[in-house]
Amino acid sequence: MKLTLLGTGNAMATRCYNTCFALRSGAACFLVDAGGGNGVLRQLELAQLPAESIEGMFITHGHTDHILGAVWIVRKMAELMKKGVYVGEFVIRCHQEAAEMLNTFCKMTLAPAQLRFVGSGIRIQPIAEGDEFETLGMRIRVFDILSTKAKQFGFSAMLPGGKQLTCLGDEPYNPAADARAEGSDWLLSEAFCLHADRERFHPYEKHHSTARDAGRMAEALGVKNLVLYHTEDKTLATRRERYAAEAKEAFSGRVFVPDDLETIELE
Ligand SMILES: [Zn+2]
Repeated sequence: MKLTLLGTGNAMATRCYNTCFALRSGAACFLVDAGGGNGVLRQLELAQLPAESIEGMFITHGHTDHILGAVWIVRKMAELMKKGVYVGEFVIRCHQEAAEMLNTFCKMTLAPAQLRFVGSGIRIQPIAEGDEFETLGMRIRVFDILSTKAKQFGFSAMLPGGKQLTCLGDEPYNPAADARAEGSDWLLSEAFCLHADRERFHPYEKHHSTARDAGRMAEALGVKNLVLYHTEDKTLATRRERYAAEAKEAFSGRVFVPDDLETIELE
């Protein structure tokens, strides 16, 4: 199993794409979020992930930088289905509110020739906290991250080799959430900026955290590998080195601060 980051930026990032990623097994992949628009199609092309290879999709929440790209995925899938290139059903899983939003966006923005596949080939499937499903040989369990901004789901995936990967979405870990993140082999966490840059980027006002916070949280959870994403885009040249160094001040595991289109082997 591999993880390819299609985007690593926060909502207003313009120098990298909004945070979204693909979990990959062989030639197939599972998409998590889609960023804010048509750029997701470019990122998939650059990552050499043809849309035909996407087995399914999960959307964490209904904010612009995560859900609007999903309209483009629906449009792309509809076109592939029309041509007979995509075979089988394409399922997009998300919580009820996000499902209603995506349905509405599709109805308002897609042409009838595309829209006719929504509900007939493309299924927008509402899921509830604690629901589980299988994809790419992984067992995925979703949980409510208990956001105070907008309802958001994260998930824990049991990988085929028995390792656990937990995605916390785009907000700091909430100990009250039923995340079961303790001891995760892989933890995907937002880090809006460096603690050293908090006066410049104001992470806490936006309910986000810093690389140092993420490192402390990962250490407390006994995590083995920490992946940081959903960052500001003003320090990309030094992001990998400086974010990792700050997270490692408190964290004894491995830290990854990937760039867009980077692939990490989930060993
Ligand atoms: Zn976001």
